[in-house]
Amino acid sequence: MSILLEKILQNPILIYLQKFYSAMIAIKIDVNLPKCPRCGIEVTKIVKEWDYSIFHVKRFNCEACDKTFGAYFKKDKLSHTIPKTLSKSDEEIRVLVEKARIIKYLKRHDKATTDEIAQALNLPVVDVLNMLIELESEGIIQSIDDA
Ligand SMILES: [Zn+2]
Repeated sequence: MSILLEKILQNPILIYLQKFYSAMIAIKIDVNLPKCPRCGIEVTKIVKEWDYSIFHVKRFNCEACDKTFGAYFKKDKLSHTIPKTLSKSDEEIRVLVEKARIIKYLKRHDKATTDEIAQALNLPVVDVLNMLIELESEGIIQSIDDA
């Protein structure tokens, strides 16, 4: 199976994934920082701070999804976020990151085979194949026959 990229730059899902990926590698892991309620990555960029009732509120800007959210602290401990944090499992995040790596690779090697991708990214072929099938059903890539 070979992959041909089509409309890849205009695809909003791709843009989201790329941002997500670059943010994942750019931001250092710190357990004391709140995670973006939308995409689950840790954020560092405080836009504004104020006190509200018993809470100290910090408004963060998530660089991955480019949206802000409020983190409510009670006695220096994170209480909750607004909007509410959606739980994204580690596995879901791993798949998103791996997909972003595949897309990044395909942007530079637009007729790569499944084997080539697996080798270049050091991933199991079966995982790559499954993610390629998902990416194709999401309309991000298109597969073509070798013939
Ligand atoms: Zn986010």
